[in-house]
Amino acid sequence: MSLNLDPRQRAMLEAMGVTLWQPLAADEPAVKASVATKTAPENIAAYAANQRPAALNEHKFTAPKSNQATDTALAPSPAIDPSAVATLDWPALQTTVTRCQACGLCQGRKSTVFGTGDSQARWLVVGDAPSEADDAQGQPFTDAPGQLSGQLLDNMLKAVGLARNGTGEQSVFITHALKCRPPANRNPQPDEIAQCESYLRRQVALIQPHIILALGRVAAQSLLQATLPDVAALPLGKLRGQVHHYQGVPVVVSYPPTYLLRAPQDKAKAWADLCLALDVLRLRA
Ligand code: SF4
Repeated sequence: MSLNLDPRQRAMLEAMGVTLWQPLAADEPAVKASVATKTAPENIAAYAANQRPAALNEHKFTAPKSNQATDTALAPSPAIDPSAVATLDWPALQTTVTRCQACGLCQGRKSTVFGTGDSQARWLVVGDAPSEADDAQGQPFTDAPGQLSGQLLDNMLKAVGLARNGTGEQSVFITHALKCRPPANRNPQPDEIAQCESYLRRQVALIQPHIILALGRVAAQSLLQATLPDVAALPLGKLRGQVHHYQGVPVVVSYPPTYLLRAPQDKAKAWADLCLALDVLRLRA
């Protein structure tokens, strides 16, 4: 089945590397079991816009760059107290993250990456960990020369009617599971993921998103380890195509933009994941 996409939408999908939309089959287990719907909306952008609550209390938030040039001399300090983090409001949470030394990742960072966007957005996008460019800018999914993963994410968001730093119905909050960059982009250690999860948990509690898009294995591990103990051993492909939950919020797992740049053949799967997330939102509306 083809869709009645307008030229702008087609351009967005082409920017993702997806030229034709293919809906999840009616007998797709994820759709039957978790979404209970048979097709995705045909006009994706209009659909996303129509699902927005009319009276939404907007609060635009962009994390300032951290002034952590001296953090290279930091040493880890005692572990995070999750019960204390759970009481923080948004500004206090940001300040706490900026000063955090709870794991060894504080030692090599230039900036913490708290996130950017609308702190009351319905969509929350969670990546794995800051890249070198993110670390330098203090912002998530920042492009570097020859590495346009941020641009690809922006195109993915546009395809569902969202925009980085967008307002109103286009708003989304974007962050990473880890707030500090692992040195040489190594995989985060389990204890580092566990430490930082308190901050992600509080962000979710304060934002109260309607859908979480987890882009990558570390994001999935951080969000799902409590309900899926063997999540770290599962390939990302096994986590896709179904609806998980974190603090009662539906979670859809998909590929990180950096992977999609290396494996463009999987962009169609990423598009299917976005359609699944839209279906979940429609059922929650
Ligand atoms: S990665 Fe998270 S827990 Fe570790 S120092 Fe940074 S903010 Fe703190």
